Amino acid sequence: MDRNPVTGTFSGNRGLQIEEPLIFEQDRPGRTGVDLPEPPKIESRLGGLDRQGAIGLPGLSEPQVVRHYTRLSQKNYAIDMGLYPLGSCTMKHNPRLNEKLARLPGLADLHPLQPRRTVQGALELIDTLAHWLKTLTGMPAVAMSPAAGAHGELCGIMAIRAALEARGDPRRRILVPESAHGTNPATAAACGYAVEAIPANERGRVDLAAFKEALGPDVAGIMITNPNTCGLFETDILEIAEAIHGVGGYFYADGANFNAIVGRVRPGDLGVDCMHINLHKTFSTPHGGGGPGSGPVVLSEALASFAPLPYVVHGADGFRLVEQDGDPAATGKAFGRLKSFHGQMGMFIRALAYMMSHGADGLRQASSDAVLNANYLMASLRDELTPAFDGPCMHEVLFDDRFLKDTGVSTLDFAKAMIDEGFHPMTMYFPLVVHGALLMEPTETESKDALDQFIAVVRALALRAKARDAVSFQEAPRLTPRRRLDETAAARNPVLRWRPPQPRGEAAE
Ligand SMILES: *Cc1c(COP(=O)(O)O)cnc(C)c1O
Repeated sequence: MDRNPVTGTFSGNRGLQIEEPLIFEQDRPGRTGVDLPEPPKIESRLGGLDRQGAIGLPGLSEPQVVRHYTRLSQKNYAIDMGLYPLGSCTMKHNPRLNEKLARLPGLADLHPLQPRRTVQGALELIDTLAHWLKTLTGMPAVAMSPAAGAHGELCGIMAIRAALEARGDPRRRILVPESAHGTNPATAAACGYAVEAIPANERGRVDLAAFKEALGPDVAGIMITNPNTCGLFETDILEIAEAIHGVGGYFYADGANFNAIVGRVRPGDLGVDCMHINLHKTFSTPHGGGGPGSGPVVLSEALASFAPLPYVVHGADGFRLVEQDGDPAATGKAFGRLKSFHGQMGMFIRALAYMMSHGADGLRQASSDAVLNANYLMASLRDELTPAFDGPCMHEVLFDDRFLKDTGVSTLDFAKAMIDEGFHPMTMYFPLVVHGALLMEPTETESKDALDQFIAVVRALALRAKARDAVSFQEAPRLTPRRRLDETAAARNPVLRWRPPQPRGEAAE
């Protein structure tokens, strides 16, 4: 038997990490997990349209199927396995209490088309969560239906567009700081606006002079993340809000970083007109790997009446949804509907469970601890790595790649070496305003022990890079089932369909 050239083992496995072929590649004709008697012959009434060939499902025994999916499940890295320091993503621990409540049969088995009187509790839950989102943000209204942060941005910008059109003043431009998450300019462009980038100053904040320069009567609004994606609080935020309102524009806040300020700052007090809240970042609820998410949007008085349908109202006959503009309880001129039904119920349950179990003091402590943990990373790494900006950070800490200068090691190499050490890498090359960015967000639930271990490893890797050991970085990761992949080719030319290597014979039905 030859050794596998990649793993160096005969089996192709690496320790107890087992290689796993596609389920179709494990097919053997006639193999099956069940033993059923031959069906009786029946007379076909399909007029000759009966399937002639085999259906093409793979034939496997039950234990093979169980192993297949168990092995696949172990190929995911997850917050439940270790530190997940992805900046901007807020990969926070999801308390098991959330899961217990979301799985209660009375909630988990709901159907959105059930009669209203059978879902009073669910509607009340949405209404209660809406109340706390409004309270925490200091905003008068909230649209609950958006399905994620980016969807919330779409909701907010559509509300702004509807408000501008209602006053007969359609505008053309939306200002977006250079450090913004890519979804911000994408949303503005998708809504038909020209996007104008506002540079960052040397303190990593919006360049106030450049912002004021860009203002004009055709500016529909500005989209700002606060704290921003450099992990810094925008200290000129009141002046920015005043200036955008001064030209008749609106202030969109990207609230994905709300985790850093919950219980300390109310965005409504900063002059915000609308802000999406990533329930899946700020109020736990698991995400990553593609969802699910939930992105309710809080709205100011000026935008509230344009909120999308449906929304929950409460009257003498209990809770119900307003589904149409003509509804007697409709409070405004909704810009339309963003989603079938009313939002991500499972996420609502988890977010409310998180809020209720933490209480006001607990939420405030979570945001304080998130900021403390990030600053602990910053303070512990700042002499070996190069912080991108001076001064304390908020919930995430941004380094640039100056510490790797002349080492032959890139940010990418550094991240790959972290994988060999058993750490999911931080966010790389984002935000774009600093060179070779490494953005780390530890979140509030990591213990000092976990942070200390992470810090020790990052410091050791930095020292190794500076000792000119570039080759070991360029070869990383060495211990994973796959080494470096051609990510560009994979993205440009994805292989989405398995094709049998040769014409199939009689496969299992
Ligand atoms: C995560 C994030 C978004 C997008 O949220 P999704 O729920 O992933 O669509 C937008 N802005 C910032 C700053 C984010 O971190």
